[in-house]
Amino acid sequence: MSECIFCKIIKGEIASYKVYEDENNLAFLDINPHAKGHVVVIPKDHAETIFELSDEKMEKLSIAIKRTIEKINLVLQPEGYNVGWNHGKIGGQTVPHLHVHIFPRYSGDQGGSVHSIVNNNGGISVEQLAKKFEKI
Ligand code: AMP
Ligand code: ZN
Repeated sequence: MSECIFCKIIKGEIASYKVYEDENNLAFLDINPHAKGHVVVIPKDHAETIFELSDEKMEKLSIAIKRTIEKINLVLQPEGYNVGWNHGKIGGQTVPHLHVHIFPRYSGDQGGSVHSIVNNNGGISVEQLAKKFEKI
């Protein structure tokens, strides 16, 4: 997409600090890092969310995430990671081009786990939810 900032990064129209690249994906340093070595990995196909990305490219993206983490390991030797993406506006997605955040974690960095993103079970029991899934 011509006006998409991440497509512009892929095309080299906007500069970025590349961490990893392959035929289908690019990983670069987040401009507003929330951790030392905060990286975003993006597919080169413009897709707003996983629903617009083909299964084949989704598979390749997951391998690119692994390769990127391997590279971060070599350079920064973090002690752990949080990896994930903000999916949709309510999930906190601001850039409408799928991007996977990699947050390297270090002891004493005062960060949390993915469980700290939200803690609201919607007032429905696990048993009731399980019944809904059984119907599909
Ligand atoms: P999200 O809220 O998941 O959509 O996150 C978008 C991320 O993209 C944020 O962490 C931004 O700091 C990052 N970002 C936006 N523009 C750039 C850019 N030009 N180069 C690197 N990172 C960027
Ligand atoms: Zn795009």
